[in-house]
Amino acid sequence: MHRLLNRQLKKTGIKPNAPASTEQIRRFTALIDQAYIDSDGDRDLLERSLDLSSKEMQGLYEKLKRNAQMKLQQSEDRYSQLVQNLKHHYFFYTHNTDGVFTYLSDSVTDMLGYSKEEFLTSFDKFLTDDPINDKLRENFHQTVSGEIQSPYEVSIFHKNGTVCYLEVMEQPIFDAAGDVIEVEGIARDITHHIRAQEKLDHIAQHDILTGIPNRMNLYNQMEHIIAVSKRHQSKFALLFLDLDHFKNINDTLGHDIGDKLLQQIVERISPNIRDEDVFARIGGDEFIIVLTEINESYLVTVINKILTLLRERWHIDEYELKITSSIGIALFPDDGDNTVTLMKNADISMYKAKEMGRDNFSFFTDALNTEVQNEMRLEQDMLKALDQNEFVLHFQPKVETSTNRLIGAEALIRWNHPKKGMIYPNSFITLAENTGFILKLGTWVIQESCRAIARFNQTGRNDLSLSINISTRQLQHDHVYETIKQAVDENGIDPNQLMIEITESTMLEKTEKNIQALDKIKKLGVHICMDDFGTGYSSLSYLHRFPIDSLKIDKSFVDLIEKDGSHAVLLDTIIAMGRTLDLCVIAEGVEEEYQRNYLIKNECPFYQGYLYSKPIDEESYTLLLQSNTLENRNI
Ligand code: C2E
Ligand code: MG
Ligand code: MG
Repeated sequence: MHRLLNRQLKKTGIKPNAPASTEQIRRFTALIDQAYIDSDGDRDLLERSLDLSSKEMQGLYEKLKRNAQMKLQQSEDRYSQLVQNLKHHYFFYTHNTDGVFTYLSDSVTDMLGYSKEEFLTSFDKFLTDDPINDKLRENFHQTVSGEIQSPYEVSIFHKNGTVCYLEVMEQPIFDAAGDVIEVEGIARDITHHIRAQEKLDHIAQHDILTGIPNRMNLYNQMEHIIAVSKRHQSKFALLFLDLDHFKNINDTLGHDIGDKLLQQIVERISPNIRDEDVFARIGGDEFIIVLTEINESYLVTVINKILTLLRERWHIDEYELKITSSIGIALFPDDGDNTVTLMKNADISMYKAKEMGRDNFSFFTDALNTEVQNEMRLEQDMLKALDQNEFVLHFQPKVETSTNRLIGAEALIRWNHPKKGMIYPNSFITLAENTGFILKLGTWVIQESCRAIARFNQTGRNDLSLSINISTRQLQHDHVYETIKQAVDENGIDPNQLMIEITESTMLEKTEKNIQALDKIKKLGVHICMDDFGTGYSSLSYLHRFPIDSLKIDKSFVDLIEKDGSHAVLLDTIIAMGRTLDLCVIAEGVEEEYQRNYLIKNECPFYQGYLYSKPIDEESYTLLLQSNTLENRNI
């Protein structure tokens, strides 16, 4: 029986086995009624409280949902902001073990300007030739073979042509067997960082007042120059330049004027220093100039030029100043094979120059002082020689190989020095080129040659040509075309009678400009010949771009012909090549009959050389024209 029912029966006194009174039944019924009422009340309460908590929970749930959505939105916003901010700085990619991209993020376009398509197909072509790219291939092989590498740098062109630097981090992805299946990479734009570093480096390596390299920079560059010179077994010169009595300027006019003078000195000297040379300031009024790949005449020219430039007047604020300098020179490797020794010896030489009365230079080795002084005198004499008619042209006949029939001559300059006698061009042409005097001298050669042609024509031989040598430096000067045109017109000669000889160096420097200059000259009707062919580094691809009519084979190839007439492969090749390119071929420096025989056999149509004639003066050449001999001559 239910416990409650049991209790209610007990309360009303009803016993299970005895009959109940009416009163007992009324009380029992009342109790049961009350029990139902109580039960209904409890259920109501329960229902109400259940309803309440369910509503509360619903509210809580809504609130939590709203919060979560808000947070998700915030995080999404933050993420897209991040991607937006990063897309100019990062891109991501994956590539397979063959290096083929399998994924590339869109941000490559934001960062480098290329479309994804362009980047995927032509990535290699966008790399610059900066040496930092040299290790890319090696890095690739290491990563695809499973090595984890530290980040490395890449230099690449932006689509707009500027150079960008990337820091690349790559990571190999392995399969279950431990083999690399892919490489994941992230590239970060570090151009700003590199540029800032470069700026800092520049500041650390340059003199603040003048902007040229400082001592630290000089020492760094010297290491490189010494290494290169050792490898090429070439010489270089270290010039120690100290201003004479600079202290007086500072003491009397103040440091401000002194500083301005130093700045002007740098401005005046810098344009005369080649890019490959170094001009550094190492102290108050001390400068170092390193001249690389020197020859004696270049050295003399530069020293002379610097001393002269410094001697000229200086205008600083309201002052007009005069100053001189003393230069000490040490040569590598003769006077030292390391920076410290060279600096020390150049310093000692500079004091020698001061002792010699300042405004002077001195080599560490005394013997050089006399030699160079002689050369300087030569340079000064040369400048006067033109006015004093000391230059003359000699003529070396050019002949047909098989018949020795005269076809013309080459004009070769000589300097009839009043004290030193006849000086040959190899002693002064380089000097003239270095000083720029070649422009004046070259003009004279052109004019004099055209006058000579006119004179030769008067002998009745107007079928001959005359060739003249033109330095590259001369060709690069616009005047040369005008000079030739004018000289041809003035002397009434056929431009076909004139041929200019250029050397292979013309093909290597400022190629396009030279081609244009030659094209213009060729249009006049003047012939063009490549002189000393085979001695430079000309490549065939250059050769056919040049408007040349003939090739002159250098003497060194003719010298390869053996007495027994055995094969001179290089010579044969050049002759054959000239023929293929439809060029007229002439061999120079032919001294022996067996050489001529070889040339006849190998169909080299023309030659010049001591065998037929040395270069001779105009009178002798005129006689030769008149006698019009077909025989061999030795003059
Ligand atoms: P190049 O134009 O190659 O001239 C040939 C040189 O070889 C000439 O020397 C000539 O005398 C020499 N030679 C000719 N045949 C023989 C031979 O059979 N045996 C030997 N051992 N030598 C021979 P040169 O006259 O001393 O001229 C030297 C160089 O000076 C010329 O070489 C040319 O590059 C330059 N040069 C001469 N005159 C001028 C000029 O007017 N202007 C310019 N810019 N350079 C010139
Ligand atoms: Mg020549
Ligand atoms: Mg030659």
